[in-house]
Amino acid sequence: MKILLPLVLSMITFAREATAQDELCARERAAMVETIRGYAHSASSGAGQQSLSERVLEAMGRTKRHLFIPERSCSIAYADRPVSIGHGQTISQPFIVALMTELAEVAPDHVVLEVGTGSGYQAAILAHLARKVCTIEIIPALAETAAKALRDLAYDNVSVRLGDGYAGWPECGPFDAIVVTAALGQVPAPLIEQLKVGGRLVMPVGAAYSTQQLTVVEKIAPDKTTTRAVALVRFVPFTRSQN
Ligand code: SAH
Repeated sequence: MKILLPLVLSMITFAREATAQDELCARERAAMVETIRGYAHSASSGAGQQSLSERVLEAMGRTKRHLFIPERSCSIAYADRPVSIGHGQTISQPFIVALMTELAEVAPDHVVLEVGTGSGYQAAILAHLARKVCTIEIIPALAETAAKALRDLAYDNVSVRLGDGYAGWPECGPFDAIVVTAALGQVPAPLIEQLKVGGRLVMPVGAAYSTQQLTVVEKIAPDKTTTRAVALVRFVPFTRSQN
């Protein structure tokens, strides 16, 4: 009993601190949602007057972004800024994640492909809105860490695959929506093939290490697409595997 008491007390203190930390994180997350809600209506966002739906804002409010970044710090995670996730990669700023999700027009019965899993955060947001999310990452360590984070948080409708996403993931599709989170000069043809008619692909199109156009491609017939540029963005490069 004498040995147990200090142990029990320290467990209670730890649990209290953890709860206080959770509450602080929840407040910072709610503030982030309000920031991006306001941002969406202002021209300064660079995305014109693109509004964000309550469904997307709710998914942003429910997803614990701090558990997808290396420091797990809430003040870093919930600022409207990109965050480094190691290996020269970044997780986009929350507003851009919300904007891409909005532009993908994800519905509850949708199957969605993400190319560029990174931390797994964008996949988690999509998982709140879609039936199934398939996500591909080319850097093994990131694919592994993201798969673990998604598993630990019980995102059971997300599958992570290691590989070059240029070729898409035909066995997981066809897709109602595709979100590409790395920049390339052109949209990979296999991704358009794996998109359903009526589906949308959202991707930064342009040169690496420069600004790109956040682009929405809509497949309006088996051999026909429409393309529109929505905002200027800056993403990490889409890399290709050597084989
Ligand atoms: N969506 C991520 C952020 C992505 S950063 C998140 O929510 O955290 C872009 C990611 O795309 C990086 O992790 C990079 O390694 C990956 N990537 C780059 N080229 C790729 C390719 N050809 N196939 C799959 N992933 C790629």
